[in-house]
Amino acid sequence: MKIVRTIAGLRAQPRDGAVGLVPTMGAFHEGHLALFRAARAENDLVVASLFVNPAQFGANEDLATYPRDEERDARVAEEAGVEILFAPDANELYPPGFQTWVEVEELGRRLEGEYRPGHFRGVATVCLKLFNIVRPDRAYFGQKDAQQVAVVKRMVRDLDNEVQIQVVPTVRDADGLALSSRNAYLSAEERKLALQLPRALATMDAAQAREQLNGLDVDYVEVADFDPPVLAAAVRVGKTRLIDNVILDLPRQASTWLGRDQEKKEAV
Ligand code: AMP
Repeated sequence: MKIVRTIAGLRAQPRDGAVGLVPTMGAFHEGHLALFRAARAENDLVVASLFVNPAQFGANEDLATYPRDEERDARVAEEAGVEILFAPDANELYPPGFQTWVEVEELGRRLEGEYRPGHFRGVATVCLKLFNIVRPDRAYFGQKDAQQVAVVKRMVRDLDNEVQIQVVPTVRDADGLALSSRNAYLSAEERKLALQLPRALATMDAAQAREQLNGLDVDYVEVADFDPPVLAAAVRVGKTRLIDNVILDLPRQASTWLGRDQEKKEAV
């Protein structure tokens, strides 16, 4: 596996056949591995990017403390069949004078966007840059970040990118907690509390989930009309913010919408 740090270096790589790109921020776990494997199965060349993108972190977020271990990540990626690891530094992607941003307006403001203003602007911009740099045939994203998938798909459609967006199911620990690089921040006690999140979402019902999360610091629990629709939630456990979602199956989804309508009526 080659580690490439510059845009020019990446563009100089020989390419033959279909190219799959897996954008990541590192601290690889089985979720990332599932994306690498999917890319490996469907492409001739697999490129992973490893870039902790400052543009998608808010001023009070965990950019400085985000887990970083490039040596380990490189080993793990190579074992998973990644052939090129694109690991630029921030100056390479955001040179002095940088001032052009991608804003997916309505989709980027809701849910996560409400609690992390500017987050999806950072995500969309870096993804478009990576698509322009790597020119992949397919790019791989996790269902774990359902709104990110929706934003990136919308951008690809709106800006006429040719890349095919492939979505990989959420990988969970045996206890149900969705794998996340941020789980590393959780103490044993906090991890137990965090388990309430997948358990609440497993009800597949917004009202029930909200009730189950009562007592936790909840940012939102909402049905989101993505394709497919999901029940999505964000909670804070200690200093750690966790997000998760479940895809709603059709019959259950109908009852959830009904529940929401009922709530709206009650609110009026
Ligand atoms: P990150 O490094 O956290 O930015 O994640 C890189 C990619 O891996 C994103 O597309 C995530 O949605 C995906 N991902 C993260 N966690 C999981 C998981 N538990 N299951 C599936 N995909 C995941």
